[in-house]
Amino acid sequence: MWHTEICMIDEILKELEQVQTENDLTAFHKNYLSKTGKLTMMMAGLKDLSPEQRAEAGKRYNELKRAVEIEFFKKQAFLKEQAVNEKLKNDPLIDITRPAINELQGTLHPITHLTRKVSEICRSMGFLIVDGNEVVTEFENFDAVNVPADHPARDMQDTFWLTNGKLLKTQTSALQHEILKKYGPVVSAIFPGRCYRNEATDASHEFSFFQCEGMMVGKDISIANLIYIMKTILSGIYGKEIEVRLRPGYFPFVEPGFELDASCPFCGGKGCSVCKQSGWIEFCGCGMIHGNVLKMAGVNPEEYQGFAFGFGLTRMAMMQYAVNDVRLFNSGNLEFLRGIKR
Ligand SMILES: [Zn+2]
Repeated sequence: MWHTEICMIDEILKELEQVQTENDLTAFHKNYLSKTGKLTMMMAGLKDLSPEQRAEAGKRYNELKRAVEIEFFKKQAFLKEQAVNEKLKNDPLIDITRPAINELQGTLHPITHLTRKVSEICRSMGFLIVDGNEVVTEFENFDAVNVPADHPARDMQDTFWLTNGKLLKTQTSALQHEILKKYGPVVSAIFPGRCYRNEATDASHEFSFFQCEGMMVGKDISIANLIYIMKTILSGIYGKEIEVRLRPGYFPFVEPGFELDASCPFCGGKGCSVCKQSGWIEFCGCGMIHGNVLKMAGVNPEEYQGFAFGFGLTRMAMMQYAVNDVRLFNSGNLEFLRGIKR
């Protein structure tokens, strides 16, 4: 019985070999491989066999059908390529010797580039990367991060208030509350984003800029953890060992609060124009999260502690790429963007 089928397959393959056009190939498919094709019908005939015969014959038929299909696809690809080559040879409108059009290549915006770099480093340490809203409530932006009711930062002059009573976030800290409530009490997250201040613009002030906030909350989190994480982030960004030092600083949402300085990555601490010859650059504000901030988000400060830090991505980009006018980042000036070596 097998012998007959093998002969049959040989004939089918020979027939396929003779196929020269796409039309013939379609006819071949209809004749053998389609739903009503001979090979498919042969499979359907298996139901008349005994169970043992059916198993063995089924396997064999499948192999034969597969062998024909493989040759069919090869032939199909061959005919397609032949058609393309014919077209290229004979179509007078296609000139394959013409040089390709030199397409302009886009690049990432320098702030996007830095944001991704920081995110990558933090993700490798298990931090969540959270993308928050730009429109927040007064509670989230001020009250929830312990900004006193009479604090000058709340001044109407400094904030873009919306007609619905909400505002454009003035600091990435505005997301602390939401993140603590959503992921807390044990959470490590950074939240880079755009902030807004209602102020006159000049070379060092812009009404819209980028910050990156981060926090780590859990049991027994201490200032030592803060120092280690900041050193790791900074060393990762600059690709070299960076030292950090803390000075006392005041931010309403941390207690104790610090200003963190980093050893100047541009001169290695010897002194240069970026660090104003001091060997250190002021990098960010940070500290242990204030008990009130934790409490307001439903986290018990007796049980959990954490640190928070926030630095300017825009400011970092200015230092990194020696840009002396902050307004250039939002300008859409392609010449400026192309000139930056990322
Ligand atoms: Zn320096």
